[in-house]
Amino acid sequence: MINNFKEKLNSLFDKRDKIPACYAPFTSMLFDQQGRVTTCYCNHSHHLGIYPENTIKECWFGNQANDLREKISNHDYSNGCFPCAYLSTINKDITYSTNYDSYEGKVRIKKYSGLSNKNSLSINMPKEIGFTLSNICNLECKMCDGFYSSQIRANREKLPNLKNPYDKNFLEELKYFLPTLEKANFAGGEPFLIDMNYKIWELLYEMNPNIYIHVNTNATILTQRVKKILNKLNFNISLSIDSIEKENYERIRKNASFEKIIENLEYFLSYHEQRNRKLNLLVCPIQQNWTEIPNIIEFCNGKNIYVRLSITYKPSDSTLSTLDADNLTEIIDYWSNYELPANNIVEQFNKIQLKNHIDLISKWKHEKEEGTDVWESLLVNEYLSGNFEERSEFNRRYLSDILNRNSSKTKSEDYNLFTKKIIDNKLKTLASNYNKKTLSEILSENKK
Ligand code: SF4
Ligand code: SF4
Repeated sequence: MINNFKEKLNSLFDKRDKIPACYAPFTSMLFDQQGRVTTCYCNHSHHLGIYPENTIKECWFGNQANDLREKISNHDYSNGCFPCAYLSTINKDITYSTNYDSYEGKVRIKKYSGLSNKNSLSINMPKEIGFTLSNICNLECKMCDGFYSSQIRANREKLPNLKNPYDKNFLEELKYFLPTLEKANFAGGEPFLIDMNYKIWELLYEMNPNIYIHVNTNATILTQRVKKILNKLNFNISLSIDSIEKENYERIRKNASFEKIIENLEYFLSYHEQRNRKLNLLVCPIQQNWTEIPNIIEFCNGKNIYVRLSITYKPSDSTLSTLDADNLTEIIDYWSNYELPANNIVEQFNKIQLKNHIDLISKWKHEKEEGTDVWESLLVNEYLSGNFEERSEFNRRYLSDILNRNSSKTKSEDYNLFTKKIIDNKLKTLASNYNKKTLSEILSENKK
């Protein structure tokens, strides 16, 4: 059923006018909190391998990676690339794959089109590696879950923390890949709280000191240790800040102090200015802050900061995707009526970010009106895939919520079959494995 559904979705999507559809599988790999290796931050379900069961070389040069390369060469998004495929139907510029467009012409991809003999492939070394090596985090943000935050896992989900697979051998294996890397990306958890990151930064200092290092931080951690490493290497920082109003910021980003992050923002700003670079602000437009988005952009314009609006698709009481068509119209009108300046490159970039997000919300609104909810089906698919079990507590609630919301609506036959049968079964399994709750208990709990 899932495969039929994937095929159907695949057939809806535009073919990008280039080969391959995305350069990520040829240039990038990512390590997640539990040792799973994927190609990018967007594809969570196609695993190139799992560390330490597989070596890093096995992940990068193995069949799983080559299968994805072959699929993407043929514009087939069915190996976990559905978010990009979906987004490409709205606006190609908002797909995650555009982050890899700069590799066009720089990597060998020819042999992957019409591929018949995988053994004959000559594979590039990765140009970039993403490290999300732990969920250690000091915050409990509204839209996050315990897979990303140890505090949420302990306090909200009441679960033991995730086991961490990264050890000394991991660092040894990494050494093979570090000298030729062009970029290393760090996210979390909170990257400045993760010890293993400092070890990798020290290795990079020895083996590839000019590498471009990108860090997504919640801006709360600015110790002497952080400042020391910032001054040793070539860092580019994105700060995750979703509100510039103290009360709202602290409601969304629980445990953080607004005054402190504004003070830290000034430090990061001057770090970037001294190096002739631009700081980034990562913002999740959600139900709690959508009226603030134009003001956040104006704030960033005034400080020469790029704003990047992230697509936030969970949980139901935060994401904009669960609002009805009328609410979405209100958001579209509010944002569209806001006249943003475009007098320099930063202002132009920030204005386009808002326009792209308006396009996305318009698509969601259209789907609500049509009763198709392709986006939601896509996410259910994602939640039913590879890493489902490890994020079970969150997924159990999320899927219960989707089932509740959709039980009274009329959907297409496929959609009904897909959601009711599969989610029902999954929830039953999870209910019996977790806290021994029955499906009806979970559903009634969810209605409260
Ligand atoms: S198409 Fe998107 S999801 Fe797939 S590898 Fe590229 S960036 Fe990742
Ligand atoms: S800072 Fe990031 S990882 Fe930590 S709780 Fe917030 S969103 Fe999650």
